[in-house]
Amino acid sequence: MALKLIVLVKQVPDTKNITAKAMKADGTVNRGELPAIYNPEDLNACEMALDLRERYGGFITVVTMGPPRAADILRESLYRGVDRCVLLTDRAFAGADTLATSYTLALAIRKAGEFDLVLCGRQAIDGDTAQIGPQVAEKLGINQITYVQRVRENAGREIILSRNLGRVAETIKTRLPLLITVTSSANQPRTFGAKLTMKYKKARTHMEIERELNRRTASEDAVNRKYAELDKRGLIIETWSAADLNADLGSIGLAGSPTKVKKVENIVFATSKAKNIEPTEKGIRKLLDELIEEHTFG
Ligand code: FAD
Repeated sequence: MALKLIVLVKQVPDTKNITAKAMKADGTVNRGELPAIYNPEDLNACEMALDLRERYGGFITVVTMGPPRAADILRESLYRGVDRCVLLTDRAFAGADTLATSYTLALAIRKAGEFDLVLCGRQAIDGDTAQIGPQVAEKLGINQITYVQRVRENAGREIILSRNLGRVAETIKTRLPLLITVTSSANQPRTFGAKLTMKYKKARTHMEIERELNRRTASEDAVNRKYAELDKRGLIIETWSAADLNADLGSIGLAGSPTKVKKVENIVFATSKAKNIEPTEKGIRKLLDELIEEHTFG
């Protein structure tokens, strides 16, 4: 059965290159100060969707909520081979915690049309909560399976998946529609396709067209002409606002976010001395005796 697949992807600050300016005083991430990348596990989710489309046929829609520059990861998704991309962007979405983010994403999934499978990364490397997938499933009223390693089989409305639980793997048979979160060990994400990159490097959002034609000098007509020309060639990245989603303004962005960051501190882990512990039963017993003696344990 051909699958209607939706992949949720997030543009995240590259946390491997953190500087002291990474956080603002109010506890939110200073995104302008950090290079932005495709959230690593979302690449695994995207790869799993591409693989499923190759195996069963289907259509892949990629959705992200973020600032206008998040269009970059949507273009990267097109370079890898997805069919359709949607950017959810609006000042009213800013400051969203996981509750408001999942509400917005669930509205977008419903607006995107019928779906069989929603794929998310297990976790984003900035927020790090791993809450979005489960919260979106809850809001859509569908089943969820987290830590998915592999889709083994899909026959009609039935699907068999394996979960990676560290030391054990779990196999589950369930029914579509379903939301899954995908782990980093699931697959090796493909690189950009050369032909796809040549084609989609010109893909633009409405805002990017305005910016490139220079808002102050370009007429609305010129923007609309360029939009129609790109649209005809399948090179438009759709942009949806809060109004497009018919969102309740009290449930999105800062207004819809009960989480408040109380305090942010820089923590530096420093060691004064190091000790070698023998990786034997005797070595571990000695360490435990010392910890009990120092009243760390016991
Ligand atoms: P996880 O739950 O770890 O992500 C799991 C998966 O969900 C991802 O792999 C991806 O597949 C999907 N996913 C997550 N986020 C998105 C997304 N945006 N679009 C599509 N798919 C997604 N963040 C901001 O970007 N801007 C802000 O202004 C902002 N303000 C905040 C204010 C407060 C008070 C708080 C508490 C948080 C704020 N955040 C903001 C962080 C924001 O809440 C989280 O980044 C977001 O809700 C996702 O949570 P997470 O990063 O833990 O994702």
